Amino acid sequence: MSSTEQHPVHFARRVEDLSESSIFRIGRRAKALSDQGHDIVRMDAGEPDFDTPRWIIDAAKQALDDGYTRYTPIAGLSILKDAIRKKFERENDLHFRASEVMHSCGAKQALFNACLSLLGPADEVVIPSPHWGSYPAIAKIAGARIVEAPTRLEDGFVLTPETLEQCMSERTRVVLLNTPNNPTGQIYSREALAALGEVLMNYPNAFVITDDIYEHLRFDSQPFTNILNACPSLKDRTVVINGVSKAYAMTGWRVGIVAGPELLIAEMLKLQGQTNSHTAAVSQVAAAAALNGGLDDVHRMTNRFAQRARLIQEGLDRIGKIDCQPAQGSFYCLPDFSRVIESLDEVEDDQELGEWLLDELGIAMVPGSAFNAPGHMRLSFAANEESLQKGMERLQKAFA
Ligand code: PMP
Repeated sequence: MSSTEQHPVHFARRVEDLSESSIFRIGRRAKALSDQGHDIVRMDAGEPDFDTPRWIIDAAKQALDDGYTRYTPIAGLSILKDAIRKKFERENDLHFRASEVMHSCGAKQALFNACLSLLGPADEVVIPSPHWGSYPAIAKIAGARIVEAPTRLEDGFVLTPETLEQCMSERTRVVLLNTPNNPTGQIYSREALAALGEVLMNYPNAFVITDDIYEHLRFDSQPFTNILNACPSLKDRTVVINGVSKAYAMTGWRVGIVAGPELLIAEMLKLQGQTNSHTAAVSQVAAAAALNGGLDDVHRMTNRFAQRARLIQEGLDRIGKIDCQPAQGSFYCLPDFSRVIESLDEVEDDQELGEWLLDELGIAMVPGSAFNAPGHMRLSFAANEESLQKGMERLQKAFA
């Protein structure tokens, strides 16, 4: 008998209560099958399939030659902080002082810093669902109570003021918004955000965290709006989170950007200062170059995502029994597979369908349960057109 069998090892509740993200689990299985020689269509990935633009890589190479190899201030190099402030001014008409912005190790760490600075055990966090799986996981680590605010396909997966009102209480400390949305691909209009802002005006203790990481990935010409544009009076209790990962194809560089009230930023800096301090100096210089460097490449990649969104939608429409709200942004959509699940004897739910699609059709998609959307699958079109076409043909052959 091994020593671990005799004395089962226990870890802290905060990690034992966490489950592995099924996004990573499906990704790992899909990669293992590909490595064994199976032809797997990857529609599970949460990152652009494009390479980081060459001019950003060149800026990073130059940064190394220039000696950006040391510790930096916790908030970030001043060139990065300047680039962050200018980005918010130029692209979002939002004006922040230097003490109101910071960088982090990806948008994920920014969310973590914000949630851990705001949330304690008696607090509630309102999360519109379907939602990215890391939101409840981070809130759980903070010990907060999660209040799911359901959105409906009929409302374009956009949270209504009525539902928000029902979810709010005097304990609500954070309301999390994400537009363009992962996993639904939907975008909140200015009117929708203004209506939510009106509800929030009655809850002065509640902060808003707006996760704008997919800001630039929008498929129509409407300008981007976040809740601060729609409701400027929320500025003293809103944290804006963004980053370079998705728009500039820089997922591996790990740079997130944040703007918010000075006092909260100071708390987030304390937390970051006691954890990883900052992201790599070279990544900070690359992110500054990206933010200052214009949006031509971002638009080039977005146009490709828009074409793929159409390709996917046409493919799904041809199948018939898979309803899907066309994606307006991000690189995801969330088709309803419940009729497919009903039609398959060996499949009970979306989790089993995820395995079945991988094993039987060689298609990797993330089960909707990972986003609190059972019966759905998240389909990512951050993959090349040929591969997406192949995936659609396999689905049509199996279900049309
Ligand atoms: N927010 C959302 C909604 C996301 O989908 C992701 C990445 N999947 C992130 C934040 C994290 O971004 P980053 O890679 O910059 O940490």
